[in-house]
Amino acid sequence: MKIRILAVAASLALLTPQSALAWGSKGHMMINRLAATGFPAAMPAFVRTPDAVREIAALGPEEDLLKGSGVSWDADYDPGHYLDLGDDGKVDGVSLSALPPTMKAYALALELEHATPWSAGYLPYSIEDGFEQMRDDFAYWRVEAYAAQHAKAAALRRGFAIERNLREVLTLRDLGVWGHFVADACQPLHVTVHFNGWGHYPNPRGFTQAPIHSLFESSFVNRYETDALVEARVAPNRMLAPQHLLSQAEIGSIVEAYLRGTGAAVVPLYEIASKGGFNRDDAAAVRFTARQLARGVAELRDLSNLAWQDSLYVSTGYPSHGVSDVLAGKVPLNAKLLAGMQ
Ligand SMILES: [Zn+2]
Repeated sequence: MKIRILAVAASLALLTPQSALAWGSKGHMMINRLAATGFPAAMPAFVRTPDAVREIAALGPEEDLLKGSGVSWDADYDPGHYLDLGDDGKVDGVSLSALPPTMKAYALALELEHATPWSAGYLPYSIEDGFEQMRDDFAYWRVEAYAAQHAKAAALRRGFAIERNLREVLTLRDLGVWGHFVADACQPLHVTVHFNGWGHYPNPRGFTQAPIHSLFESSFVNRYETDALVEARVAPNRMLAPQHLLSQAEIGSIVEAYLRGTGAAVVPLYEIASKGGFNRDDAAAVRFTARQLARGVAELRDLSNLAWQDSLYVSTGYPSHGVSDVLAGKVPLNAKLLAGMQ
């Protein structure tokens, strides 16, 4: 049975361009954990408790565990873990610096090159979708937490508290799952056409054709990377707090800059791999890998914080109310405030 499962897995690996588990479980848990332990005090306490950090860390590998769920799931979601970025800075003719605002528009642009998001990968949209979801989670939490304290009737306060508690469960789940994609995007082999050996592309420097994907992200990380090595390389927060609801273009440009940084690490990775650096305890390889993991930690920490701050500018409910208006006491705290309580 086991052999059969392995055989199926191997045949699926041939069908899908990138089916490896980015970073392996250790790398994913590490990025989620260190990002969560770095959340600033301005973020709500429920995402910063030791239990919350453990849950966010444990959910790091979740989206990889779901790979192989079945034909429908795999075909839809597995390509959301990567982006086949070429050496020309383009994904099948679509420039990383001019990615369309939506998956639908991206699909139409790729169609001109006879490609689809499911062949070229759609990692940027996994990250952007997750950011918008986090921002909405935090917006609802702000309203529910406020109303649970300030509604006049005790029964209403209890009702809002139940909704707030449920939102905390959902938010931690969404954050942990989303963290997976933010982490995938700092794995250079997830942001390149050279995802498992250089492949059939111009190769003047004779980079390795060996299947290095799993060696790099799992075997090497498991053996040589530690929290301390990564933490020492995590940059301070450079994302400015918005004073308005971030537009798709603004979110997109943050994600693009992050992916561009990862893309720039592809050649340095191949320089190390081609010298066999990931086959041994090589100082340059350890430093390089710790730096990539640290980029993921900082990005997840700062994007989460940005989603929290930006949630102040969201409108929630039907009919909708501005979160800041609710927090300013301008909206009646009754059962109509949230759709779920009607
Ligand atoms: Zn992944």
